[in-house]
Amino acid sequence: MTVLRVGSASDVGRVRSNNQDATLVAPDLFAVADGMGGHQGGEVASAIAVETLRSAVAAPTPASLVEAVRAANQAIWDRSAADPELRGMGTTLCALAVVEGTGGGEQLMVVNVGDSRAYLFRNGELSQLTRDHSLVEDLRAEGRLTDEEAAAHPHRNILTRALGSEPDVEVDQHEVEPLAGDRFLLCSDGLFNEVTLDRIGATLRRLADPEDTARELVRLANEHGGRDNITVVVVDVVESDSPQVAAEPGARSASGPPGRGGTAVAPAVSQRLAPEEDLAGFSTAAPPASAEEPPGPPPEARDSDAGEEAETRKGRERPARRITWRVALFVVVVLAVLATAAGAIAWYARHTYFVGVRAGEVTIFKGRPGGVLWFGPTVEQRTGIKLTEMPAQYRDDLTKGVDESSLAAARRYIEKLQGIAASQGIGRPPAAPTTSAPPTGPHS
Ligand code: MG
Repeated sequence: MTVLRVGSASDVGRVRSNNQDATLVAPDLFAVADGMGGHQGGEVASAIAVETLRSAVAAPTPASLVEAVRAANQAIWDRSAADPELRGMGTTLCALAVVEGTGGGEQLMVVNVGDSRAYLFRNGELSQLTRDHSLVEDLRAEGRLTDEEAAAHPHRNILTRALGSEPDVEVDQHEVEPLAGDRFLLCSDGLFNEVTLDRIGATLRRLADPEDTARELVRLANEHGGRDNITVVVVDVVESDSPQVAAEPGARSASGPPGRGGTAVAPAVSQRLAPEEDLAGFSTAAPPASAEEPPGPPPEARDSDAGEEAETRKGRERPARRITWRVALFVVVVLAVLATAAGAIAWYARHTYFVGVRAGEVTIFKGRPGGVLWFGPTVEQRTGIKLTEMPAQYRDDLTKGVDESSLAAARRYIEKLQGIAASQGIGRPPAAPTTSAPPTGPHS
């Protein structure tokens, strides 16, 4: 008997206006579909996919599960052909189901079309069960892109296979012998394009409750950008027919050998999901059967190394690095702009002059009246002219400060003031020509 516990979460993300992902959580069947297509096409396609799967599969066998996916493909294709507004729509579909194995026992089976993914988290190690049907994955598999390049490739959303794009579709299948303690993760690309495998693995280790785990993974995807719809289904194996297989840590079986372990014959009819009361009452403690895995290190011990191990072949650190690089570039640009602005202000503050008054004496200052930011005006040249020697109409201007574009212009203005003072006969003669007065230079 296989007893499962499931949690799921889906979110539109932080950029998209609608959620084109669809989720299926049925007693023995779980799926994620990521729709695509203009208008409402994506939503329609992903909804058709999960609904067709739900209604087509009663007691699924590997063959009937694949047939159900092909039926979903046909249904989307037909609808797309019938409705011009939905033409070109399609969807991914990644499903996990309990199926009857050839030996009468129960197996878990993953079927996949597109780039939604199924992962298995076993003994602290996260491994990807499905292969993306995408252009970038093909290039990666051919060695033309590194894992890092593939993970950050701008065209990684181009699919080579999807439901609804052709009248028939090839369906990938993976059978896994369930072990108590296994966690299966189904997700749309809105999760793994935003969150590193390290982080996903750490979350699967940290949170025992599948609902909490699913919600936390969605939250993390939003925290890292949320640029796409995000859908996560976490399926925990609480009990399985093959507890002794857990004695092989890290054992991973895409299609387990027939009769493996030779355990007690599975009941013909089995309960595949814990009843609702069990779901509600399940504590956040580790699944009970996990204590029966003798050689497996305790969960805490796994934590120490599994983070690195979980960073498997996909190398998902690239998005985080890219963000850091962008932030660094942004900071450099901002600093450059600030430095340029500060330079311009400094130039403006230090390369202009004005004629003002200092201690009752008309004075040429370098800078601006009142200063600019932290650049205060400095005395450039004293003139020996008392403010009281000036006609009244000049005193106001001089008190406020008369801007001049250059030192020469300021000196010409001083000569004019000296001339005015002399012509009015109220001032003393210009005994000290400005040109001979040694500038005092800037003072701070
Ligand atoms: Mg998506």
